[in-house]
Amino acid sequence: MNNTEKRKKVAVIGGGVAGLVATRHLADPSWATVPTLFEQTDNLGGTWVYTDNTGTDQYGLPVHSSMYKSLRTNLPKEAMMFPDFPHTNKQGVSYLTAREVLQYLIDYADHFNIRPYVKFSHHVKSVSPVGENQWRVEVIDLKSGQSHSYIFDAVIICNGHNSKPRYAKLEGIENFKGRQVHSHNYREAEPYRNLRTLIIGAGPSGLDMTFEISTVTDTIVLSHHTDYAAKVGFPSKVTLKPDVARILADGSVQFKDGTNMEFDVIIHCTGYLYTYPFLSAESGITVQDNYVSPLYNSIININRPTMAFLAILKHTPTFYVTDLQVRYFLHTLCNPSLLPSKERMLCELECEEQRKADKGVRRCDYHLKGDENAQYINDLCKPTGMAPMPSILLRIYFHGYERIFSDFKNFRYNFYRIIDQDKFSVVDLREIRAKPVQRIHSNPSCRCGALVTHRKL
Ligand SMILES: Cc1cc2nc3c(=O)[nH]c(=O)nc-3n(C[C@H](O)[C@H](O)[C@H](O)COP(=O)(O)OP(=O)(O)OC[C@H]3O[C@@H](n4cnc5c(N)ncnc54)[C@H](O)[C@@H]3O)c2cc1C
Repeated sequence: MNNTEKRKKVAVIGGGVAGLVATRHLADPSWATVPTLFEQTDNLGGTWVYTDNTGTDQYGLPVHSSMYKSLRTNLPKEAMMFPDFPHTNKQGVSYLTAREVLQYLIDYADHFNIRPYVKFSHHVKSVSPVGENQWRVEVIDLKSGQSHSYIFDAVIICNGHNSKPRYAKLEGIENFKGRQVHSHNYREAEPYRNLRTLIIGAGPSGLDMTFEISTVTDTIVLSHHTDYAAKVGFPSKVTLKPDVARILADGSVQFKDGTNMEFDVIIHCTGYLYTYPFLSAESGITVQDNYVSPLYNSIININRPTMAFLAILKHTPTFYVTDLQVRYFLHTLCNPSLLPSKERMLCELECEEQRKADKGVRRCDYHLKGDENAQYINDLCKPTGMAPMPSILLRIYFHGYERIFSDFKNFRYNFYRIIDQDKFSVVDLREIRAKPVQRIHSNPSCRCGALVTHRKL
């Protein structure tokens, strides 16, 4: 047997952030693995590949990307970075455009020579187990129309979870006479010019769209149930409303405060669904209430541990954490004794689910990490000996995340600078010409302890 034959063959499904980081490590000779990355589009970068198109692509598949034209990230680039590939471009800016994030991903792919492992325009149709430890992956080459079947020793699923729209369930929606759109298909404000527009959902996309569409129409309503949207400081023509109660028989929208309004269009900024249409029932994975299970450490298929899911978590520094996730999986693949028994993994998962349920977390939010990021990173690093994410980067992540909701109108003017391994400064770019007065960030309600630079005008 030669060296190539000894290496485990691993399929990677999807060429976004997760698929790139998976392929980068699988191709590293120290793991004795060889990747094949199947990407259904002609590009690397996943959702960061902006397209004007909506609906279906040239192969008849649903357009994957959810990017809108004006998008700038909602996290600083320091919290969107792989451990071994710092951002060297855009020195004076923290919040990048989608095009700049894509360029970072392309640079990463080229730096680690990932392209030779990629099969572009290859759509994975089915994944099913063969025996105890192997997988059959059936793929269609979209250019030739031919189907191919491969056997792999492991499968890493990286198909993203920001592509299949989740619509708000609205009572009486059949009465609505206007158009319904999901944020997945929003590209720019112009098509909404002079349309009476209702936006449902106040996540970062919903807030961005409310600002943007308010420049082209006079009737713009944001329906939400958050405590921060009221403090955002929208233009005066934006009206805030509570959740929709129902659509009335005359087609108007009734809100939970009892008021009614008529709209031409409803934009659902209500998130996305986890979906794995290619997974056979025998894979042992189910998705219920938008929760994927049973996964050990939110990565490993407990029923068949040669299958991993990457980047399934929300509210986490995805780029860095996904790098840790894939290396954690590779450790377990090379040394299965790192994993507890199936019974033990199921038991731990059950305890974790119970703990979340007891805290009142809804099942559909079980993949949200939030305050538990540091513990999670520790859980991946401790048994494998990997270096954890530097605490300064995690603190920048938390600081950036908090800024989205505490000062949505201004947070993208912030510029982060790492001073040393314990300190970072935050500067307001609009004030860059004035003299800086720097002091330790001392807001007691903020847990980051950052250095904040205020500039005198
Ligand atoms: C509008 C928007 C803004 C965001 N802003 C931020 C931000 O500011 N900061 C941040 O950290 N994150 C942000 N995110 C989250 C972002 O999704 C993640 O950062 C990350 O890009 C997810 O990468 P991924 O590889 O998991 O999935 P994706 O980027 O979705 O990539 C999945 C890939 O799988 C391919 N694929 C799917 N099915 C198949 C199949 N059957 N066969 C073959 N290929 C397949 C797709 O074509 C795609 O290329 C944002 C997301 C959206 C939608």
